[in-house]
Amino acid sequence: MEKELYADYEIIDAHSHIFPASIAEKATVNIGRFYDLHMDNCGSSEELIKSGSKIGTSLYLVCSVATTPHQVGSINEFIAQECEKYDCFFGLGAAHPLSEDIEGDIEQIRSLGLKGVKLHPDFQTFNADSPEAFKIYEIIEGSMPLLIHCGDERYEYSHPERIANIAKNFPKLKLIASHLGGYQLWDEAQSCLRGFENVRIDVCSSLAFMPAETALARIRGFGAENCFFGTDFPMWSHDTELERIMSLGLSDAELKGILAGNFKAFMNI
Ligand SMILES: [Zn+2]
Repeated sequence: MEKELYADYEIIDAHSHIFPASIAEKATVNIGRFYDLHMDNCGSSEELIKSGSKIGTSLYLVCSVATTPHQVGSINEFIAQECEKYDCFFGLGAAHPLSEDIEGDIEQIRSLGLKGVKLHPDFQTFNADSPEAFKIYEIIEGSMPLLIHCGDERYEYSHPERIANIAKNFPKLKLIASHLGGYQLWDEAQSCLRGFENVRIDVCSSLAFMPAETALARIRGFGAENCFFGTDFPMWSHDTELERIMSLGLSDAELKGILAGNFKAFMNI
């Protein structure tokens, strides 16, 4: 890619995944299998920074998902340790609705200096708007943002309607709805998730699956000022995802917001 394409923009990757080096390869293969998609990269911190540096990424929201409650503690320690190593990381902690000590888990996230919580209802097999999950939202509402995976044709767990239920029930919860509000359920996302003051949308793992004009309409449907750029690394490389967002026909101001400004404003950084 030509340098001119991104040189004028500050770039934040608002959605990326890292795994401990020892399991990075296996974890990456498993995600690829789950989605039946080719993974562009392997999910280690080093690889993330290598990919992001190519487009001058200045900040990476990093997270990892706990598929069982007992993984929560060690994942959070790992993310915190990586954030310590890399100033350019903005770390979110893992939580699990079936944990016996959700308050303790959130307290751990807080004390490790992590900035919020990431959940993936489809990997973690819970309904996003279940009473168990509500316990997490109750604790973090007003103090920590939640990044939540949205959408999958095969499951109901993270349906945009369920995500909208979270937004309605927790109006002070800062909520980032991933994948243009609902992977594969992009129309449903438009009808369920527009117009919430507390909801922002990340556009990762979506642009590859729709024509540019559709992506543009969907982004503007939410309001470009409510959207964040992200790569879902190791799913996509930074240069590929950037090229996609740059070719949609967004205005310069819209791009500036999506690439960094909107995220900074939402997170007060
Ligand atoms: Zn994710």
